[in-house]
Amino acid sequence: MFWKKKNKKNIKNTDITVEYTLRTDTGLMRKNNEDAVKCINFNSDDKGFLAIVADGMGGHKSGEVASKMATEIIPEVYYQSDSAIPAALQEAFKAANNAILEKSRSSSQYNGMGTTCTALAIVGDKAFFAHVGDSRLYLFRDNELIQLTKDHTIVQKMIDEGTLSKAQARDYPQKNVIWQAMGTKNTIDIQVNRKALPVKENDRFLLCSDGLTDMVDDMEIAQILKMPSLNMAASCLVAMAKDKGGHDNISVIVIQTVKYDRQKENNITRKIKQV
Ligand code: CA
Repeated sequence: MFWKKKNKKNIKNTDITVEYTLRTDTGLMRKNNEDAVKCINFNSDDKGFLAIVADGMGGHKSGEVASKMATEIIPEVYYQSDSAIPAALQEAFKAANNAILEKSRSSSQYNGMGTTCTALAIVGDKAFFAHVGDSRLYLFRDNELIQLTKDHTIVQKMIDEGTLSKAQARDYPQKNVIWQAMGTKNTIDIQVNRKALPVKENDRFLLCSDGLTDMVDDMEIAQILKMPSLNMAASCLVAMAKDKGGHDNISVIVIQTVKYDRQKENNITRKIKQV
């Protein structure tokens, strides 16, 4: 692996761990899939679990290059950083932004490429996220769906200013225009939660690209996330986006927090030793 494990610590009985599943689909209208998704789980590491969704943009397949770079550079920098988690995520985002920008300036082939990026880190019973663009992070807790990230779209700015209602925004012609992306300028305004979000057992998190949320609304997402199986829920989200037209690439990562069962782990280790 390209990053080194640091500050290994033992997992306590009370710690929370994660189960997850991820999907990325070209959809029905696009030729290429410019989305990229990645999950890394270091249960015993002080940096824990990391999930990333990136939605690339740019001509001649360069969007694919930008989103892939984000999902490769962010974990590398995050896991190697000595900083506390919100700062480590910010460092990782800045490094990815600089690398993508440099590459986009290196050749006309990559000129103007960029990517959205939304990342979630879960360490024990705490969650942190970082976000640029219009991919989204949701928390589904006690049957309630909460959008944790704010879209960096012109439409969202108009909603905040009170010049557009949420209902009007759904059909607004330029609803997919974002005001910032990774790799398009030197500085980025990264949304991070500086105060850790306390995680409870059986919380569900959804990271997704706008290929899902343009097609499937929050009520429908909430219904699907009630399904007991994570795999079933992820497949259903993608299938519904495609049923409704699948205009764009669709990516989803569905995560559930579960209590770490030390006794179960010990039993498995004992059985392996006996064999
Ligand atoms: Ca997209």
